[in-house]
Amino acid sequence: MNNNNSKIGNLYIISTPIGNYNDISNRAIITFNKVDLILAEDTRKTGLLLKNFNIKNKLYSYYEYNEKKNAKFFLEKIQKGYNIGLVSDSGTPLISDPGYRIIQLCRQQYSNIKIIPIPGACAAILALSASGLATNRFCYEGFLSKKKSKRIKRLNELKFENRTLIIYESKHRLLKCLYDIEKIFGKNRYIVFAKELTKKWENIYGDKITNLIKWIKLDSNRLKGEIVLVIDGYNYKINNKISSKIIQTFLILKQELSIKKAINITSKIYSIKKNILYEFHIKNKC
Ligand code: SAM
Repeated sequence: MNNNNSKIGNLYIISTPIGNYNDISNRAIITFNKVDLILAEDTRKTGLLLKNFNIKNKLYSYYEYNEKKNAKFFLEKIQKGYNIGLVSDSGTPLISDPGYRIIQLCRQQYSNIKIIPIPGACAAILALSASGLATNRFCYEGFLSKKKSKRIKRLNELKFENRTLIIYESKHRLLKCLYDIEKIFGKNRYIVFAKELTKKWENIYGDKITNLIKWIKLDSNRLKGEIVLVIDGYNYKINNKISSKIIQTFLILKQELSIKKAINITSKIYSIKKNILYEFHIKNKC
């Protein structure tokens, strides 16, 4: 497999299960067996996965803090003929997991190296598919900040996002995060809680945010495990008498001008009554 001197190797991005080993793909197993070495976020965790499938291969630690330093080193190895697999602790590498730097550097400076992604599970996509919320357009936010002020700022920026929103959250911050979402998005926004996907205690439940918080607090087990939140996008039709285009113009102007001026200009552009914009402003505390 190590094609020293002659050919350049490939860089494989190998997705792995998010909890249920039965979800491993045949291609992942074949690739784990054929590469010369595997870059793993946590060699112990990937070691257990490989052991389960009787795969023996060399594992090298590759995580966020040594990514920058090691990316070039491993890409040079691929240039020399090595085939390298990149894997994270679970799911699709790079999705809130290490790997971005090596793939970015590879595309920018080693364009002769082929990047081959091996598909598999991704908690965000799995939760979205089961959420019952719009799937034609969605946005992935990953983890919100651990800092309350930054989290609130980001949620305010996302308040009028009309695509379905996917958020990863740790069990330790779940309730704090839900209270912040409730405060900013309003009590009635529909949200789906997807916990322990593909595992024994898988639980997927959707309700208005206030009800969801009550439901979680009824059973402390609901605060355990890995969690994805899928949030319904802002619905302009239900919430307002005005179109999303008008609201977007108003929101942009409001960032630069006083509320009064933003309302005046928006009402002139779209020939819309000022009190409708004022009502929108008050209702949404934007
Ligand atoms: N790369 C992974 C993927 O493809 O989904 C995500 C890794 S990220 C470090 C870990 C977060 O993903 C968890 O905190 C949780 O929000 C979500 N997650 C991972 N596995 C999950 C599962 N089985 N059920 C629900 N959420 C999961």
